[in-house]
Parts: sequence; C-alpha cells; structure tokens
Amino acid sequence: MESAEIRRRWLSFFEERGHTAVPSASLIADDPTLLLVPAGMVPFKPYFLGEVKPPAPRVTSVQKCVRTPDIEEVGKTTRHGTFFQMCGNFSFGDYFKEGAIQLAWEALTNSVEDGGYGLDPEKLWITVYLDDDEAEAIWRDKIGVPAERIQRLGKKDNFWSMGVPGPCGPCSEINYDRGPEFGVEGGPAVNDERYVEIWNLVFMQYERGAGDGKEDFPILGDLPSKNIDTGLGLERLAMILQGVQNMYETDTLRVVMDRATELTGVRYGAETSTDVSLRVVADHIRTSVMLIGDGVTPGNEGRGYVLRRIMRRAIRNMRLLGATGTVVKDLIDVVIDTMGQQYPELITDRKRIETVALAEEAAFLKALKGGTNILETAVTETKAAGGQVLAGDKAFLLHDTWGFPIDLTLEMAAEQGLSVDEDGFRRLMQEQRDKAKADARAKKTGHADLSAYREVADTAGATEFTGYASLAGEST
Ligand code: ATP
Ligand code: MG
Ligand code: MG
Ligand code: MG
Repeated sequence: MESAEIRRRWLSFFEERGHTAVPSASLIADDPTLLLVPAGMVPFKPYFLGEVKPPAPRVTSVQKCVRTPDIEEVGKTTRHGTFFQMCGNFSFGDYFKEGAIQLAWEALTNSVEDGGYGLDPEKLWITVYLDDDEAEAIWRDKIGVPAERIQRLGKKDNFWSMGVPGPCGPCSEINYDRGPEFGVEGGPAVNDERYVEIWNLVFMQYERGAGDGKEDFPILGDLPSKNIDTGLGLERLAMILQGVQNMYETDTLRVVMDRATELTGVRYGAETSTDVSLRVVADHIRTSVMLIGDGVTPGNEGRGYVLRRIMRRAIRNMRLLGATGTVVKDLIDVVIDTMGQQYPELITDRKRIETVALAEEAAFLKALKGGTNILETAVTETKAAGGQVLAGDKAFLLHDTWGFPIDLTLEMAAEQGLSVDEDGFRRLMQEQRDKAKADARAKKTGHADLSAYREVADTAGATEFTGYASLAGEST
C-alpha cells in the first residue's frame, strides 16, 4: 500500500467514524515554546488546555512533523526520520480509553477491503503504563489480546505530559513484531527494533502539578474533561505494509535514495557505511524541502539553523558517497515530485524552494573548501604535537568564519582520529554571545566606542549559536 493511500485511508476511516478531518498545520509551530512541530497534537494544544473551544468533539489529521533530537538515529535505526508524518485521531471530552483502543484496533486489523490496514492481530504487542489496569483490562477482555502480549512500561515511555503543570496521563502503545530477523523475542520491552512502535495512544486524564523535574511531579486529580491524543507514524506503517526493512526504503524516500545512487554510482546494499549515508541523504533532503516549503530559510539561529545543519549534513554525505559537483537540484526535484502529490503547494512553490536550496548549497560548497583547509592544518598540527583533541578555538573559528556546524567539525575530526574540545567550543560561543549583548547594551546607552561595536555586530549576527538538541522537544 502506497504512502498516499495510507494517508487517504486514515482520514476516511476516522471521518466515517464521526471525526472532522483537519489539514496539516505548518511545520512552523504557532507556539512560542516550540520551534517546529514534533507531534500531531501541537496544533490542538489550546483545545486540550481548555483555552479555545474545539471545532468538533472528534478530529483527525495527518500532521507534518520534524524531530531534530532524532537526527543521530537517522539511517542507523530502521525507524527514525527527522521529518515524518503523524496520523492522529483526537477526542476533546468525547470518547475515552475504551473508544480509542477500539478504534485503533479496528483501523489496524480490519481487512483492506473493509477500509482498514489488514495487519495480522497476532503480530501486535501492546504496552500500557505501570499502574494502568484499566487499559490492560480493555485490551485483554474487550479486544482479546492475550495477556502475554501486553507489557507494562514506565514513565519514560508510557506517561505523557507537557513538562509543565497541566494535563497529563498514561499512554498505551501498539507495536508490530517484525520477526526473528530483527533479533531476540520478548516483546517491545526487550527489543524495540523487532517490535517496532507504530502507534501511541495518550489518555489525558489527570492534572499534574509542578514537581521538581520532568518525571517527578504530583498528580493533583482528574481532569474535568478527559481527552484522547493519538499518533501513528505513517512511514512506520508504510514500512510494514510495503514489506521493507526500514522507513528509508518506503515509496516516498526510496526514490530519493535511488537518485542519490545514480548521482554517485554507489549501490544501495553494498556497505553499511554507504547505506547509512544514502539514508541520511534521503531523509535530510526531504526534511529540507518540507522546511523550505513552509517558509524556513537557512540561517545561523533557530529554525534556520536546524535547516542549515540538516541540509549541510545531506550535502556532506553526498560527498562522502563520492559526489563532486552540485547535487541538490536533482535530489530536491525528486522529493517535490513525490511529496507534491500529497502537498501540492510544493509543486506551486518549486522555483522558490529551488532558489533557497541552491543558494545554500553554493554557500556550503564554498565554505567546505575554505574550512577543510583550516581543519586539515589544525589536524596536522594537533597530531604533530602528539594531541588527540582538536582545540575548541579551532572549532569556533570554523563555525565563525566558515559556518561549519559543530557536528560537521566533530565528524570530520573523527574521520582523522581526533575528538574535539566541545566544552571549549561552547565556552567561546557563549563568550561571543555575551560580548555581543554587552556591546548592544552599550550602544543603546550611547557610551560605546562604536568602531569596536561594529566589528562585533558584523560577526554576531552570523554566529549566534543555539543548541539544537533542545530545539524541537518531543511531546506525543
Ligand atoms: P520511538 O520510541 O520509536 O522513538 P516515540 O515514542 O518517540 O517513538 P511518539 O512520541 O510516541 O514516538 O510518537 C508517536 C508515533 O510517531 C510513534 O509511535 C511513531 O510511529 C512515530 N514516530 C515518532 N518519532 C518518529 C521518527 N523520528 N520518525 C518516524 N516516525 C516517528
Ligand atoms: Mg522517540
Ligand atoms: Mg517510544
Ligand atoms: Mg511513543
């Protein structure tokens, strides 16, 4: 079943069951606490918080998501992309635990002729939160899942909250057993690659207090109105329904990998390291197109930095695969052609997306040339002095003058057998930020030597560094 059909079927399954279909919101979150949308529930947050009245008691959507914290997993696990689509069904004070479980089970196991996805019920494993006896009883007694395929997991996996006082509640996840070729048996609690998580059902039933940490907080009581928030990964379901080994081999990403192999002459399946690079390229190029499509432009802070980092990582991996010239136009065209079927605005905006992406490619290729020379000299000097760690000021210089994201420096140094003094790098970044701020303040009060200010201001705009691990939190 193609991705487009999975999406269409999702929406019609839930529309037939009384849900109002809502189009995906932009990746640029309309929420000051988030840079990018990491989950399907984000556009509905005001309804869950009771700030705005929902348009209908039941809605469904297929939401574009970006999760920057998953970047390191891309290509290495079989199931993490920086961009993916989260299919969701939501109830605002309407159906609750039993209704959500029943709907999820039907959607997955109803036959394809009957509007479902036709999964074999025996391959499905369920997890519930430690003390959620109610959910376990529904799965076991109402749905008929054997007790040995229901496992209990702790807060990290199976309890949801937004990290602040407000709604929270236990989750129940549906996992698919991909069989012994993916490792040992024992259920999702033991092996999360074999028993791949496909769908998370969140039962928002309690109100939490502040507590003293993300996982340690008091439950103040029941919410006046209980809600349902669910998220199913479209690419993960596609991976199962298309019978492929990982999400990068599904229809919409495979074509990008194929184009990358044509451009580099590297065969997919030849070697682990080149396979990982091909997957990174496919994922990152798609994410770049989706971000530019929603209006993000490459830059040195915030969303722009997420995009720059992802695009540069894709281009660099193409070079590791042997590409020498420009590659971005060919690759983004494939993404626009395939994703454009579901997101027609990509096709309308093709020219703009190309212009932004090609400019970034040109800037990076120039930077790569200059930066690589500096890096190579620094590596030679470090090794000659018997060192194994590249100094923080070298990483800073590469970032400052050549726009090298720190992970690029880390990767390139590692290829030469060196680590990098990351603390030193961050210290220098912080010093520069502090200095820029102090100078800006001095300028406002009018007591500064303006020539010195100008010098800093010229570089400050280009060097603002915001840590990216925290740029897009996870929330479903
Ligand atoms: P995992 O444990 O595999 O990292 P998760 O628990 O972080 O997944 P949720 O936050 O529960 O994921 O998101 C709901 C669903 O979205 C998941 O069940 C999965 O199908 C999908 N999903 C989450 N992260 C990704 C990703 N990086 N790439 C593709 N699909 C994802
Ligand atoms: Mg995760
Ligand atoms: Mg999980
Ligand atoms: Mg989950």
